[in-house]
Amino acid sequence: MIPLSVVRVPREAEDLVLAAMRSGQLTQGSLVARLESEFSPICGCEHVVAVANGTVALTAALAALGIGPGDEVVTTPFTFIATVNAALQLGAVVRFADIRDSDFCLDPEAVAARLAPKTRAVVAVHLYGQMMDLQSIASPLARAGVMLVEDAAQAHGAGLGDSPAGSFGLVSIFSLYATKNVMAGEGGLITTNSSEVADRLKLLRNQGMRTRYAYESIGSNYRLTELQAAIALPQLKTLRDMNRKRSANADYLTAGISDLPGIVAPAQLPDRTHVWHQYTIRVTGEARLNRDQLAEELRTRGVQTGVYYPRPIYLYDVYREHPRIDPEPMPVAERVAGEVLSLPVHPHLAESDLAAIVAAMRDALHA
Ligand SMILES: *Cc1c(COP(=O)(O)O)cnc(C)c1O
Repeated sequence: MIPLSVVRVPREAEDLVLAAMRSGQLTQGSLVARLESEFSPICGCEHVVAVANGTVALTAALAALGIGPGDEVVTTPFTFIATVNAALQLGAVVRFADIRDSDFCLDPEAVAARLAPKTRAVVAVHLYGQMMDLQSIASPLARAGVMLVEDAAQAHGAGLGDSPAGSFGLVSIFSLYATKNVMAGEGGLITTNSSEVADRLKLLRNQGMRTRYAYESIGSNYRLTELQAAIALPQLKTLRDMNRKRSANADYLTAGISDLPGIVAPAQLPDRTHVWHQYTIRVTGEARLNRDQLAEELRTRGVQTGVYYPRPIYLYDVYREHPRIDPEPMPVAERVAGEVLSLPVHPHLAESDLAAIVAAMRDALHA
């Protein structure tokens, strides 16, 4: 079976992990500090604050902006659930805006239409590794005095124009979960160019203490361990090459499948640097098989696939019935959730794997 993702810890990380274990410094220390400073040029931000995972990164980021009960956050219903859980955790109300089927990200016009007097922040998710069209929402957000938060959990090294993911938001987050483009098993990075926000994040991360037992705010323990920083650090040097490999794999797949009737291959939009966290096709009504049938046919031909994500968030009972979720229907997100299918694109695929994926697709669709 050709797997959808492969987790491979670089050799150099093994040495660093062992050194960290032997150093006696197991939690937030010099390796975490190195991870933060070496990620800074990648995200185009002066400040990087490493935390335990991407979900608490989002919670801390929104908390650092002062978001809480009574505030509204606008985001996409077509995302990993953490995006919404973080806002709910803080007591905020979540309102969704619809997406575009060209990049699977928030539709800027839909976002502008959702801004209301209580809206404090928009959380833009760069789904599958391609950045949302942030330029088109910049002026509506500025006019309304609404803050931008980037959920770049899937977009390490992605770009829009000359600017990297993470550099547009007042605060942005990245995940280091095991299958992300940079991984530590678990981990998260929060990025900002505001020293005030960075200062608040560092307090929140460590029980609200600036120095030991000097509490300045209510905080928590969001710290990352040295062992996790040791796993992630060597990947920063190879990130660009790994992302290029993903991109070359995506080009190969697109060349092999884009003529198939009813199949829409994912596109890199103008001005974007797509880092292909996922390679996600749409299986439309014109295809010979529906999405689930195609996934099954590919499985029997040795190709693992994934569905990210099977439904818009507000269609799950716990969210639809939640008092702080606005379940207004989003027609594009609902259609796309039934069409998406992710094929393997990870950097450890051999050319024979890519050829096998294309052959399986053509065979399954009788092309
Ligand atoms: C992975 C992910 C997160 C959460 O990250 P964790 O490190 O798993 O907590 C948040 N948002 C999106 C879009 C993600 O893909």
